[in-house]
Amino acid sequence: MFLTEGIYDIDELARFNLHIHTCFSGCAKDEMTFENIVKAAEDAGLQTIALCDHIYEPEDLPEFNQNCEILRRKRDELDSKVKILIGGEFSCYGTDMYTLKGSDIKTEYRLYAQNHFHVTGWQQAEEKTPEAYKEHTKKMLRNLFKDKAADTIAHPLNGTYLRKMMGWEADVLGNCWRDDEIAEILKEGYDSGCAWELNAAAFSGDPMLIKRMYSIGKELGVVFTIGMDAHRLENVNTKDFAEALKRTIL
Ligand SMILES: [Zn+2]
Ligand SMILES: [Zn+2]
Repeated sequence: MFLTEGIYDIDELARFNLHIHTCFSGCAKDEMTFENIVKAAEDAGLQTIALCDHIYEPEDLPEFNQNCEILRRKRDELDSKVKILIGGEFSCYGTDMYTLKGSDIKTEYRLYAQNHFHVTGWQQAEEKTPEAYKEHTKKMLRNLFKDKAADTIAHPLNGTYLRKMMGWEADVLGNCWRDDEIAEILKEGYDSGCAWELNAAAFSGDPMLIKRMYSIGKELGVVFTIGMDAHRLENVNTKDFAEALKRTIL
């Protein structure tokens, strides 16, 4: 876990943007070069950023590692006030399947997505109901926690990615989680050394889920991170998201 203790001052937490995509992610804008990202992070006064390009399948690891090596070299040659972690947005794509299983690949920050259900090859829940996807999600997360595979869960519990597939509203899955279930899974993650991301994109889809997760998690003392899920330069800065978060969750 990068942050080992919970920070509940949103302005303090917003000095870390631990979810940024570079041009190596096909979905990011061409402007997301290493140099542009670092400049944007410096201008925003960030203390730490994590570069987390997508990696879906274990077969993609050689290319992913090459890209990380390029980013690491650039980072090591650079003199910047901003601390830069070379990580990845890895995939927990089934109840017993995740990107780095059985691999000794070293990475500086393991951000794991467990809800990219729209991606080819991802295991789906047994039934096409919110309840079934919630139970499926618990199994996926518990497998990651058992192996201590993740530093942070990206856009956790959020159902935005099921919206298009199922024709559900963005908050249908979030509303399916009871408070006691949220508390249980947040605590299990924390106990395994895993943090929970307050993700800007997920927030715009289902702000109430983040509000509930935050208030329950704060009571329990779990660790949160802020991740902008930046695919364009204007989203490197966490300021506007931090203000929206404060208005909603505090
Ligand atoms: Zn994601
Ligand atoms: Zn992402």
